[in-house]
Amino acid sequence: MSEKLTLMAVHAHPDDEVLGTGGIFARYAEEGVRTVLVTCTNGEQGDAPGGVKPGEPGHDEAAVSALRLEELRASVAHLGIEHVELLGYRDSGMDGWDGNKAEDAFANVPVERAAARLAELMKHYRPQVVVTYDENGGYGHPDHIQAHRIAMAATEACKIPAKLYYTAVPREGIAELFELLRAAGVPSEELELPDDFGVPREQITAMIDVAPYVERKRKALEAHASQGDSIFMLRMPPEAQQQVLGTEAFIRVINHVPGAADQEDDLFDGLR
Ligand SMILES: [Zn+2]
Repeated sequence: MSEKLTLMAVHAHPDDEVLGTGGIFARYAEEGVRTVLVTCTNGEQGDAPGGVKPGEPGHDEAAVSALRLEELRASVAHLGIEHVELLGYRDSGMDGWDGNKAEDAFANVPVERAAARLAELMKHYRPQVVVTYDENGGYGHPDHIQAHRIAMAATEACKIPAKLYYTAVPREGIAELFELLRAAGVPSEELELPDDFGVPREQITAMIDVAPYVERKRKALEAHASQGDSIFMLRMPPEAQQQVLGTEAFIRVINHVPGAADQEDDLFDGLR
């Protein structure tokens, strides 16, 4: 292979890079793969310090996005990510929030316009491997769904990635994690998720061992301390953290690499 191996992940908000892809970023960066994070929004609809939600007194969008981008820089340093590309769109907020209505919210930007910008980045970096969310955005957030749409449209337009993957949470892994949390004394009513949450193991095509990078993912989560979800994760007992952070799962949806295995333990399988 004459071209430099390159991994690109397309994420919606500052902090999304850690849970599902922080380990592959750290691992592949260490292996000499060029790593590129594309973050589509500035995270304006995130929590302000102290868990203040958008629309509540004390929530200043400009201050929130400035803080979150600063947190992103720290997270990226922990994960060893080489290039960060900020598309700079406005965070749309969760489904049903007022932020959805803003004309310049990422979810309302025409897909072809944002996809054209992403395609330019793909032409610049020429990633063999691109990672993004599934059509439901992983869990239904409008910006995650939009990130999926632009990643697919950009890939379709430039045909550069040899492989494209969706991030996935194995359903069996959640059951195991909840077992650990229950044993650690977390009340059962805090451990409820919709039955269809996560992906059955048979749909997952790549399980990547990132156990050596759990500590760096922890530090990256800590860097996003203004966001409650990060803090929740860090409050879990160490054994549960190792379980949830030590493996990253993916579903391969595009593959132009004839030698790549059906079940992979390396996203660059067949490309080296
Ligand atoms: Zn997000």
